[in-house]
Amino acid sequence: MNPIDHIAMAVFSIKETSVTLQRLFNWQFSDIEEIPEQGVKTSFAAFGDMQIELIEPMSNHSKLHAFLTKRGEGLHHIALKSKDIQGDLNNLDRLGVQLLQKTAQIGANGKRIAFLSPKETAGVLFELCEPLKGEKEGHE
Ligand code: ZN
Repeated sequence: MNPIDHIAMAVFSIKETSVTLQRLFNWQFSDIEEIPEQGVKTSFAAFGDMQIELIEPMSNHSKLHAFLTKRGEGLHHIALKSKDIQGDLNNLDRLGVQLLQKTAQIGANGKRIAFLSPKETAGVLFELCEPLKGEKEGHE
């Protein structure tokens, strides 16, 4: 089983949204990190084992910018913890699942990540992410 690692919201402005969420719920967001490989900026609020991620496009050329223009702000993806992301991807591939990446890429906080095609899962985009070695959530 792959427990939830984080749920991500696509927003035009991390700053604006994080201020709102802090005011309403007292959520504390981390410093904004840029991930040029994904064309996004991210920030996380942590709740024990679970996090909320805000993602904002780095530019108008970002795929996320196209998503926001078409669908507006809202939920973007659900990320599941993986202890062995390449093993999980190989299993899904063997099951005939359409993957957006067949090998893991580097995401926020240096974690290894990969996305499934949302066509496979009722229109919801799922991410697999493997915590950095030595992180406590990676324990057996
Ligand atoms: Zn994510």
